Amino acid sequence: MADRVCFISFHELGLKGKNRPTFERRFQMNLEEALDRYLSSLPQPVKRQTIVGHVRRITGRFTVEVFDAEHWESIAAALAKVPGTSSVTLAWRGGRDLGEIETLSLRCFKEALPTGSFRVRAKRSNTDFAMSSMDLAHHLGEVLIDVCPVPVKMKGAELEIQVTIVGGDSYISSRRIEGVGGLPTGSSGRVVSLLSSGIDSPVATWRMLRRGAVGIGLHFSGRPATSDASERLVADIGAVLSATGGLARIWIVPFGDIQKDIASRVYAPLRILSYRRMMLAVACALAQREGALALVTGESLGQVASQTLENIAVVSTVADRPIMRPLIGSDKQEIIAEARRIGTYELSIQDASDCCTLFMPPQPETHASFEAMEQAWALLDVEGAVSSCLESATRLDFPCRSYQRSSKA
Ligand code: ATP
Ligand code: MG
Repeated sequence: MADRVCFISFHELGLKGKNRPTFERRFQMNLEEALDRYLSSLPQPVKRQTIVGHVRRITGRFTVEVFDAEHWESIAAALAKVPGTSSVTLAWRGGRDLGEIETLSLRCFKEALPTGSFRVRAKRSNTDFAMSSMDLAHHLGEVLIDVCPVPVKMKGAELEIQVTIVGGDSYISSRRIEGVGGLPTGSSGRVVSLLSSGIDSPVATWRMLRRGAVGIGLHFSGRPATSDASERLVADIGAVLSATGGLARIWIVPFGDIQKDIASRVYAPLRILSYRRMMLAVACALAQREGALALVTGESLGQVASQTLENIAVVSTVADRPIMRPLIGSDKQEIIAEARRIGTYELSIQDASDCCTLFMPPQPETHASFEAMEQAWALLDVEGAVSSCLESATRLDFPCRSYQRSSKA
């Protein structure tokens, strides 16, 4: 009897030399956590042992047994979103007996029923298997072609049957989902990410989460001058990002009154830059409290007036820690394509006025000087504003054990 499994490959973990065991352990815990998230997202409470097993490490890979066929595809999709995963195959696990490998290959082949072309790819991690990988692939190709005579094509085949021999088991599969790649959550420290409900910052945040960072979102809403629509959207965006397992929480700060105060004091063309500086000042204070080493924004060079190099330069000096801008060299079309892929785009294009639309000057400065910026800044009670923002902040928590683990440490 063969077992239904998800067969999880990773790539970059393998490059980490002496740290590899730590990375692998972390990755395994994150995969387990993704299974818990998946199970708790189901509409009805379920008994885990009827659906899915625990994540097991085998040489250079991980596997998890799926007992209920209905959940196979969606469990594989959930595991593919875990940072560190390079691919997940939906595989049948059998023994090393050639007859059994043939039967399982046939089963995959018949399930997928190619009409154009196919190929068989075989890999062995032990060389004690009687046939070479090439001979095994060849042999299985002949068995399959007997059943359904479609041509074999080495490049661009419609169907690929993948056979992997690891230890005493064989894994045979025709379905593979690309993983997000990156590094396991918890291997890259913590960041505070300035998260609007726009298109860019969710993508920037996702990129940092993919690289193994634990993210603390920070959203400024226009309340009390606007509704809480942007807060609700950011919560939905948070739920999408949390599929990586790397988003720990989102802090929400009502920023309308602070903006009103800035607008009443500062020369109109410098207002937006003053709002941005204030956001960074609040983000640094929060990062200090959360133990985050860096900030993240969704800025892209020259995309809007506040993102010219001069303006980025005069705003950034207020920060006491590095500001990561994963999208700085990306074009809008690329960012949109990525937002669609990760699932935040449809949320980001919904209309929700956040603080960005409040008290906008008719002609914002595009090339601010450092002196003018400092003069404007001197008119503000920065300390008072930062502490009132932190006091009025509320938070939304997401399941993220890497955050809880490192908080206890
Ligand atoms: P986005 O699509 O991320 O909203 P944007 O193209 O609208 O970006 P800006 O409005 O200049 O560009 O914002 C630049 C960056 O400042 C954003 O990517 C985000 O990191 C941060 N930011 C802007 N508005 C907010 C907000 N309301 N709350 C938190 N961060 C914000
Ligand atoms: Mg925006």
